[in-house]
Amino acid sequence: MKIAIIAHDGKKPEMVNFLNKNKSKLKQVSLVATGTTGNHVENTGLKVEKKLSGPLGGDAQIAALTAEKELKMILFFRDPLGKHPHEPDVQMLMRICDVHNIPIATNPATAQLLIDAFFAGEKLG
Ligand code: PGA
Repeated sequence: MKIAIIAHDGKKPEMVNFLNKNKSKLKQVSLVATGTTGNHVENTGLKVEKKLSGPLGGDAQIAALTAEKELKMILFFRDPLGKHPHEPDVQMLMRICDVHNIPIATNPATAQLLIDAFFAGEKLG
């Protein structure tokens, strides 16, 4: 099972902070990310499978993986103050998560809760 990571440009620094804070946990799982986000993930030393950049269809690729039940959760560091050419893809991704009941965090606080809950569950077995 994989965890997907996506960050809008305005939220990439917060995403990198999150990865560094949770690196020991995230090292234990497979990661997939949109293109530019993936470059930042790699720079933290974590391994990641990179898809297309978000505006070029990366969010749509993550949505496809979600529909195929390949993802455990999606950590989406959204920038609510920016305009994004691929907003329809973002809406589609969130809809697909709801269709398939896959957890999606859209801010760092929720991302932390999901990661903590996931790893607590792993320990419980
Ligand atoms: P990026 O795409 O990782 O290629 O920047 C993320 C997004 O904006 O959806």
